[in-house]
Amino acid sequence: MNLEPEYREGLDQLAAHYKEVLSLLGEDPSREGLEKTPMRVAKAMQVLTRGYTQDARKVLTDALFEEKYNQMVIVKDIDFFSMCEHHMLPFFGKVHVAYIPNGYITGLSKIARVVDIFSHRLQVQERMTQQIKDCIQDTLKPLGVMVVVEAKHLCMQMRGVEKQNSITTTSDFSGAFNQAKTREEFMNLIRPK
Ligand SMILES: [Zn+2]
Repeated sequence: MNLEPEYREGLDQLAAHYKEVLSLLGEDPSREGLEKTPMRVAKAMQVLTRGYTQDARKVLTDALFEEKYNQMVIVKDIDFFSMCEHHMLPFFGKVHVAYIPNGYITGLSKIARVVDIFSHRLQVQERMTQQIKDCIQDTLKPLGVMVVVEAKHLCMQMRGVEKQNSITTTSDFSGAFNQAKTREEFMNLIRPK
């Protein structure tokens, strides 16, 4: 089978398993509407987990620029879609990132790429938040970095565990953001006006 570049090995096996899953759920995988579903799901799942094959640190180390600017750099409202590792159902929302450079900056789109890579894996929101922070801290070595993630979790909303529309917020920070005043400055800037 000639794999399109965005798909990985194991696609056929994955599709075979999804066919089995459909049967186990009480469906008839041979009926017309479901005939191509196992392969579609397999492809979709490979795309949603493509972050496993991508190196977020390399994205940043490949795009470091020396720069004397040492005020807070903020990238807010980065949309993301991920899947919770407990139910494999989506959680999605926005990521806000701030860092204070220490000689190096990176392209703003690279921060969004890092978010994209960590979100395209099975995740818990807390760990994703920390991984984004660590990745930026370890590569740019800024004076501090802070990451705030706001998300809705379909595993809670669809199963009725939580109130509809509740938003889960997580944050992690390092260095200069240990000071409440610095965190506040960032939080004020990302708060919707
Ligand atoms: Zn879940």
